[in-house]
Amino acid sequence: DADRLLAAGRKPEDVDAALRPKTLDDFVGQRAARENLRIFIEAAKARGDALDHVLFFGPPGLGKTTLAQIIARELGVGFRATSGPVIAKSGDLAALLTNLEDGDVLFIDEIHRLSPAVEEVLYPAMEDRALDLMIGEGPSARSVRIDLPKFTLVGATTRQGLITTPLRDRFGIPVRLTFYSVEELEKVVRRAAALLGLAVTDDGANEIARRSRGTPRISGRLLRRVRDFAQAADAAEVDAHVADGALTRMEVDKLGLDAMDRRYLTMIADIYKGGPVGVETLAAGLSEPRDTIEEVIEPYLIQLGLIARTARGRCLNGRGWTHLGLSPPNGIQD
Ligand code: ADP
Repeated sequence: DADRLLAAGRKPEDVDAALRPKTLDDFVGQRAARENLRIFIEAAKARGDALDHVLFFGPPGLGKTTLAQIIARELGVGFRATSGPVIAKSGDLAALLTNLEDGDVLFIDEIHRLSPAVEEVLYPAMEDRALDLMIGEGPSARSVRIDLPKFTLVGATTRQGLITTPLRDRFGIPVRLTFYSVEELEKVVRRAAALLGLAVTDDGANEIARRSRGTPRISGRLLRRVRDFAQAADAAEVDAHVADGALTRMEVDKLGLDAMDRRYLTMIADIYKGGPVGVETLAAGLSEPRDTIEEVIEPYLIQLGLIARTARGRCLNGRGWTHLGLSPPNGIQD
């Protein structure tokens, strides 16, 4: 049973687990988070204690799962991964927890999607490393407490505000991950290219990095597709020209926005005259779940300053209009 819960936590990206950095030194970017984690890991090891519970939050593909694996490796302990929606019943969580060994890292992706009943079981598990089980039913029911191994919970969520306060308060180490700079993504691309045995010039790496939406997962994905185009064109190496040709054919524009991003921007411009428009309206118009809009599409568009989230809804900024090749209506500037 525990095996089923663990397997379901695996992501499609694990097909190229080879690209995942395995140590903190290998992990590019997120410098403050990395150096703090290094100190907490060393301190826990020196004390012979389990590491405090860690919560990662930030958009998808920034390295939350990768860091969770690195933590386990640096601590020299076992790693178990699952995800919030997979843990349907409190018994599922109990099965996972009782199967852990002392010091193990239990990674729960999308931890904000745990049901309230499962969360209730998690509180004493995190705080006292104990499990309160109800035995029997009706008047003869009683609660028994089972001690758990000294484990470390590593949770991941796309936004800190999604998880309940009691859960958030039980993580001693909250870590926010932010979009990567172009220089950092160039390193990610060069590292991945070396692992794939692909020759990439500096300007080729720069082209892919600039168009990766600040996200290492996207760098890896684009690099693999660019490799296919380079192979088809018999190109000996990936330079800026080869990369640009491939990315343009994949409909990734100069800012790294894809077809979905542009549909989003175009809808606000054409139908709502630049907004404000509510997120539910946009979700319906684009036939995309609201979560995808708020957690995948919008954070990067906001980071680029193309749109703004206001109390009355989403608005296109001057830059958003310009990016679409349109002139902003009177009164809208950057
Ligand atoms: P998340 O859990 O935040 O969605 P992942 O940890 O699964 O993101 O990262 C997705 C992929 O991006 C990984 O498989 C890895 O190849 C790459 N990656 C993430 N962070 C880094 C990094 N700092 N350096 C190099 N590659 C990274």
